[in-house]
Order: sequence, then C-alpha cells, then structure tokens
Amino acid sequence: MARRTKIYEGKAKILYEGPEPGTIVQYFKDDATAFNAQKKDTIEGKGALNNRLSEYFMLGLTQLGIPNHFIKRLNMREQLCHKVEIIPLEVIVRNVAAGSLCKMLGMEEGTPLPRPIVEFCYKDDSLGDPLVSEEHILAFNWASQQDLDDMIAIALRVNDYMSGLMYGVGIKLVDFKIEIGRQYEGDYQRLIVADEISPDSCRLWDSKTGEKLDKDVFRRDLGSLADAYTEVAKRFGLMPTNNVTEGPKLVE
Ligand code: UDP
Repeated sequence: MARRTKIYEGKAKILYEGPEPGTIVQYFKDDATAFNAQKKDTIEGKGALNNRLSEYFMLGLTQLGIPNHFIKRLNMREQLCHKVEIIPLEVIVRNVAAGSLCKMLGMEEGTPLPRPIVEFCYKDDSLGDPLVSEEHILAFNWASQQDLDDMIAIALRVNDYMSGLMYGVGIKLVDFKIEIGRQYEGDYQRLIVADEISPDSCRLWDSKTGEKLDKDVFRRDLGSLADAYTEVAKRFGLMPTNNVTEGPKLVE
C-alpha cells in the first residue's frame, strides 16, 4: 500500500491526505498534553474513545443541520473528514465558570454564568493561545465580521445541542472549545465545525456528584483519564457489551 502523506501532526491527532480531493484522514493519538504541552503522557485507549465520541457528537450536529467536517469513521482510530482551512481561532463557549475564566476574573469554579459566553483565543502555542477580542480578529484579518457572526451562531447552536445531549445522560456541560474551518466548493466557501468534539476539548461534570469526566482529570491528577472518558462513552451507550452497543441511557 502506498504510504500516506502526512499533512500535519498536532498534540493529539495526525492529519493525512484523504483518498479523494477535499478530504483528509484524522488519526487520534493516545497522547495527552496539558499546560501548553508542559505536562505529557500516553493514555492507552484515549485515541479510540475520542474518535468514537467525536463521531457521535458530529453525527448529531449533522442531523440538526449544523455543518461539520465529519464524513465517516474508518476504524478505531481514524475518521474521514472534509478538508478545511482552519481559522486560527479557538472558539470557546462557557456555561459555568471554570479554568482560565476563573483565573482571569477571580471567580469561584462552578459559578453559573448569567448567559453563555463566547470567547476567542488566537491559536499560537508559542504565545499560549491568548484571549483576543473581535477588534483584534477584524484588525488582523483572521476573520471577517460575517465570519465572526457565523462563528458565534454556530458555537451557540453547538452549545445548545451539546448541553441538552449531556443533560440527558446526567452530565453538565461546563464549557468547550471548537475549531471552525472554511470549506471551499468552487467559488463558494462556508464555515463548518472541524477538529474534534470530545472530553479533551470540553469540561464535563457529573450532574449529581460533580465528578470531573474530562481532561481536567489529567491536568489535575484526579485519577484515571481513560476511566473518565470510558464513563462518558458508556453513558452514550458507545461501549460494546457482548459486541452490542446499546444507545444512550437517559437519566431521570
Ligand atoms: N480548551 C481546549 N484547548 C485549548 C484550550 C482550551 O480544548 O487549547 C478547552 C478546555 O478543555 C475547556 C475550554 O476549552 O473545556 C475552556 O478552557 P479554558 O479557557 O478555561 O482554559 P484551560 O483552563 O483549559 O487552560
């Protein structure tokens, strides 16, 4: 078999050229990093779990008509996706105060926010992905005003969908990050959700106990990251039992 062309290797994924023009293959690694890669480890099974969970969430977005890059899962670790030009911004939506918001404003973790807050961070590891304003984004031409309006609308729709989905399985969606890319079709372009949606890029707390089921388990040494991600996958019925996947179990 011909060797695939690697397009890009990031901290948690590798992107290869896809079989058709306009496609890529996204490979999920077992590597976990935090604090701008100052903390690193390999967590066996993480790549397969994130591949499966991201597939599940992206398929849900497709069903709601929220455009995204996912085409199909190829195997345990790989998925076929539309190729996009990634906008160099992390789009963060917050429902509850946590992480950098608490640090920046001295808020207590867990404080509910009066409305969802959308933030943008400029994607540059050497700068630590700094928070930027719409003024910066427009002045430096990272995105147009129309792109910004579209990105905010997409991010809030993803938030509504993911919050409801998580609520149904007893999980609170505290915050999450998405990446958005431009997909070109002839002379036209549209913005679509790209990258991944997984416990690596969300904060997920058990609704009853507050137990963390996301990458904070790794960031703060709170236990087994693989166990936490497996618990999320189980709640959506994605872990095989006797080779049968059961579908989500709604909580009361
Ligand atoms: N996030 C991410 N990648 C990043 C930065 C943040 O996926 O490079 C996610 C993070 O997991 C959390 C949300 O975005 O769900 C908000 O993160 P925050 O700004 O609080 O930063 P952190 O505390 O993770 O450094």
